[in-house]
Amino acid sequence: MSAKNHDVIIIGAGIAGLTAAHFIAEFSQADVLVLEAKDDVGGRVKTHFNHPNIPLELGAALLQNPGTWEQPNPIIPLLRHADLAHLPVDPQHFQGLGPDGKSKPLSKILLAAHDHYQAAYLNIQNSKQKSGDVLPTLDTFLSLGPTPLRPGTPAFLAKQTLTAMIDQHTGNSPQNVSLLELLNDSDPSPEEHFIFGGYQALPHLLARKAVETEKVFIQLNTPVEKIHHPPKETEVKVVDCRETTYKAKIVICTVPLGVLQSTYLQFFPPLSSEKQLALQHLNKGFQNKVILEFERPFWPTDAHYVFPGSNRLHEWPEYFNLLHFSGGKTATLVAHFYAEAAQFGDQHDNDIIERALEPLRQAYGHKVTPLQMALVTRWDTDPYALGTTSCFGPKFQKHEISQLSKPEPGGLYFAGSHTLAKHRESVHGAYLSGLRVAIAACCDPRLQMKHKVRATTRRKKFKQ
Ligand SMILES: Cc1cc2nc3c(=O)[nH]c(=O)nc-3n(C[C@H](O)[C@H](O)[C@H](O)COP(=O)(O)OP(=O)(O)OC[C@H]3O[C@@H](n4cnc5c(N)ncnc54)[C@H](O)[C@@H]3O)c2cc1C
Repeated sequence: MSAKNHDVIIIGAGIAGLTAAHFIAEFSQADVLVLEAKDDVGGRVKTHFNHPNIPLELGAALLQNPGTWEQPNPIIPLLRHADLAHLPVDPQHFQGLGPDGKSKPLSKILLAAHDHYQAAYLNIQNSKQKSGDVLPTLDTFLSLGPTPLRPGTPAFLAKQTLTAMIDQHTGNSPQNVSLLELLNDSDPSPEEHFIFGGYQALPHLLARKAVETEKVFIQLNTPVEKIHHPPKETEVKVVDCRETTYKAKIVICTVPLGVLQSTYLQFFPPLSSEKQLALQHLNKGFQNKVILEFERPFWPTDAHYVFPGSNRLHEWPEYFNLLHFSGGKTATLVAHFYAEAAQFGDQHDNDIIERALEPLRQAYGHKVTPLQMALVTRWDTDPYALGTTSCFGPKFQKHEISQLSKPEPGGLYFAGSHTLAKHRESVHGAYLSGLRVAIAACCDPRLQMKHKVRATTRRKKFKQ
């Protein structure tokens, strides 16, 4: 068992961990070791670069909320630096087929949903102010919508689309999500941009920048299993799966919620009861994709999304039209699965692909052309993700948000897209969390002691 000493150890080389590494190295004298479980950096920003014509996004693909002049999205300049372009996904370019099989612009469906639920939303907001901290769940909210719900009626469509939007936004079903999730949503615009060129180029850029400072070392294939952070000691110890021990003055843990909720990573002493409770009150969110490349397109080629429609209330099949966004380079639709439907578990790839094809066969019948290639993502069972996102569960209280990022005694810090109040579970959120923890770490007296010694040495040299 060997022990190596560092100023900072960062666990996880996703956007949060890499951003923290880069900023700490840039703005302090600290040396940083990043320990990453997988064989590449990026975490949930993961691109399949092996397709001959176009990179395929297995994880994040969209710039959520490109921002405004007053509140720009901090990722945009980095995208330029990484040679990545982005193009708006236009809500007017949806092909929505209602359960009656007739094409409907999504904007009309959403407008109807908005009219039906606005009063319910205002009611809940008002009653919440009187009823303390624990808010109703989103299914309570949906139950306040109009009835009866006969397939094909505007009320049915409104509830179906809203349920789908909740599944999509939170990765979980309405009964498992607190209304706080809706009230806390801070993005000023629902606009989204598709990223071209392979999103994983962004974490690759961040890693390169960090390593170029010569103060950061990124060690791949190193799953961390234990963190010892005794409150009164000046050293934190990290133990990996091979029983190798690493020591540092500060440790920053950026693993996702799924890993924190599992028993894979153990803390000694255990995390504070407040933090444990806040983590328990979060629910994991699930999203998976099935990338379907066909011989020829059989759907409207300029649609941004295709929604074949369904008669079932809790089903809203959704396909991202990569054909349009690849400039015609690949006849590919990306089927998005959310919430329960995205928990693929140990189901066989072929069964999942069949599930992804079924709504298309129902809507387009014999027009569906032969499948050339299919890829299935497995974020729900990936041991270093164990889910896609997180959402506020029914018991989550607003004051618990601050617990998610609060450092533990003994020099243990936290970052990652689940630790934020705003911009949660997004790439730019992960970036902001990395920046925030880097600032906190640079101000930690454990690191500043070293700076003082170096500054004094420099001053002495200057005087000579
Ligand atoms: C399918 C999917 C679609 C998404 N779509 C979008 C989108 O369109 N737009 C958007 O903005 N966001 C999207 N997201 C969310 C976004 O990808 C994440 O919020 C963001 O990338 C999280 O970054 P992070 O650094 O916090 O965590 P991660 O990227 O998860 O990084 C954590 C790192 O820790 C490593 N790790 C875990 N356990 C250990 C361990 N024990 N020891 C060492 N290392 C460990 C992991 O391997 C990983 O590299 C999507 C996510 C998924 C999965």
